[in-house]
Amino acid sequence: MLINGSQFLDRVDQLHHNIWLNGEVVNGPLSTHSVFKGILNSKSKLYDLQHDDEHKELFKGYSEPNGEEYSFSFHQPKSKEELVRRGKATTIWARDSLGMMGRSPDYINSAIMCLGSGAEFFSNGGKEFGTSINSVYNHAKRNDLSFTHTFINPQVNRSLLHYETDENIIAAKVIDETDKGIIIKGARLLATQGGITDEILVLPSGGNYIEGEYIYGFVIPSDTKGLKFLCREAFNYSDSSFDHPLASRYEETDSVVVFDHVLVPWNRVFLYKNHQVAMNFINETGMYHYLQYQAVCRQIVKTECILGLAEKIVDIIQIQQYQHIQDKVNEIIIGLEIMKSLKVASEVQGTVNNYGTYTPSIQPLSTAVQYYTKFYPRLMEIIQLLSSSGIISIPTEKDFQSEIRDDLNQYLQGANADAVERVKTFRLAWDLSMSAFGSRQTQFERFFFGDPVRLAMGSYNHYDKQPFVKDISQFLNLEKGKL
Ligand SMILES: Cc1cc2nc3c(=O)[nH]c(=O)nc-3n(C[C@H](O)[C@H](O)[C@H](O)COP(=O)(O)OP(=O)(O)OC[C@H]3O[C@@H](n4cnc5c(N)ncnc54)[C@H](O)[C@@H]3O)c2cc1C
Repeated sequence: MLINGSQFLDRVDQLHHNIWLNGEVVNGPLSTHSVFKGILNSKSKLYDLQHDDEHKELFKGYSEPNGEEYSFSFHQPKSKEELVRRGKATTIWARDSLGMMGRSPDYINSAIMCLGSGAEFFSNGGKEFGTSINSVYNHAKRNDLSFTHTFINPQVNRSLLHYETDENIIAAKVIDETDKGIIIKGARLLATQGGITDEILVLPSGGNYIEGEYIYGFVIPSDTKGLKFLCREAFNYSDSSFDHPLASRYEETDSVVVFDHVLVPWNRVFLYKNHQVAMNFINETGMYHYLQYQAVCRQIVKTECILGLAEKIVDIIQIQQYQHIQDKVNEIIIGLEIMKSLKVASEVQGTVNNYGTYTPSIQPLSTAVQYYTKFYPRLMEIIQLLSSSGIISIPTEKDFQSEIRDDLNQYLQGANADAVERVKTFRLAWDLSMSAFGSRQTQFERFFFGDPVRLAMGSYNHYDKQPFVKDISQFLNLEKGKL
C-alpha cells in the first residue's frame, strides 16, 4: 500500500497511544493537537509526495507480485541503480523539511527493510525468529507504516559493566517468558517521535557487554498495553510560521519509553538471548549502512539549505566583499562537497550482501556521519557569526501587525530586502541555530547515530592502518640490528 497524506492523518487520529506531556496524558486526535499537528502535517506532505506526478519515477513502480504498490522506503535495492534511486527519493523527502525532519519515515523503514530482507540470519537463533521479522517487514510494507525506535538504556550510570539489581530495574529487560511471549519491564531512551508513529522498533542496547535478559529485538504497535511515552517539553511555542519557521512545522518531540510489564508476542520477537546473532545482525543485514545512507542524503540537503540561508544573509546586509565572510561561506561549500563525494563513494563501492541487498559501502558513510557531528556545530557558529546582531533583532509577527510596523519597516530593512523579508530570514537563522528547536537540532546531529567519541573509537579500531605502517617501515629501511 502506498498511503497519501490524508490517509496518514486519518490513521494517526485513530491511535490511542499512552503519551505523557507536561504532566498530562495526551487525549484527542493527534493531528490537531497543538504540539503534534506541525510535525504530523509535515509528515503527511511526504506521503502526498508519493503520489505527486512530478516525482513518479522515484516513488511509483514498487509493487508486489500481486500488483500491490508499496513505498520506496521498504524496497530492497538489488543493484547500485536501485540504491541511487532510493537516495533520490530520500532527497526529495528531505527537501520538503530543509533536512530538519531527522526521523522521516524512510529512516527506520530502511532498518525494517534490511532486517526483513536478512530474515534468514535471524533464523540462526531459531527458525521462528526469521519468520517473525519477515512478517513484521511484510506487514509494514503492506500498510506503509511508520516507526519510532529505541536503542539506548537510560543514562543513570555509564561506568563499564554497570547493571542494576533485579529489585531496581531501570534499563528495560525481560522479566518473564510465557507461551504467549516475553514480558518487558524498564525504560529506554530516546524515541524521537515516540508515541506518534504506528509501531516501535526495539533493539539490544549495550554493545559487547549485553547478556541474558537484555538481549532482545522486537517490533510492537505503539499502543501495546503497558507502553508509555514520556515526552520532553515541546519546543514549538506557537503556530506562527513567521515567528518559528522551523519549530512550528518540524518539532518532532523526543520521549523516554517505559515498558510496564509489556507482553511482546512471540510473533513480534526476532532476536532473543542469542549473543552471536545480537553481535552480528547489524553488519550482516546492512542495517547501519542503510540508516547512515538515509542520514547522509538528508544531511546533504540540510547543508545545501544552510548554504542558501548563509548566502541570503550575506546578500541582505551586503557583506560579501569581506574575505573572512567569503572564507566562512566557503567552509560550508567545502563541507557540502565532502558529504556529496562520500555519498557517491558509498554508492560506487557498494556490494551485494548475503541476502541479495545491494549495500552501500560503510566506510564513506561512517566517515560522513562522524564528520557531520563536528561540522554541524561549526555550521551553526558560521550562521551566528555572519548574522551577529541580526539574529537578535527579530520582532514577531504580532509586532508587524501593531502600530510600530512603520518603525520596523524603516529601521529593520536590509540593503536588498524589505523589513519583512529581512526579519523572516533572520528568524529562520535564529530558529535554526539559537532557539530551543535549533539547539536540539545541533544536539541531534551530534548524537543521533550514537556517541561520537565511541564512533571514533570504533572507526580507529576497525580501520586497516597496517599497510601504511609497513610503507613507513620500508621507507625507513628498518632491519633488525642495522642503522
Ligand atoms: C535529539 C536526540 C534524539 C535522539 N533520538 C533517538 C531515537 O530516536 N532513538 C534512539 O534510540 N536514540 C535516540 N537518541 C539517543 C542517542 O542514540 C544517544 O544520545 C547516543 O547514543 C549517546 O548515548 P547517551 O545519550 O546515552 O550518552 P552517554 O552514553 O550517556 O554519554 C554521555 C557522555 O559520556 C561519554 N561516555 C559514556 N560512556 C562512554 C564510554 N564507554 N567511552 C567513552 N565515553 C563515554 C560520552 O562520550 C558522552 O560525552 C537521541 C539523542 C538525541 C540527543
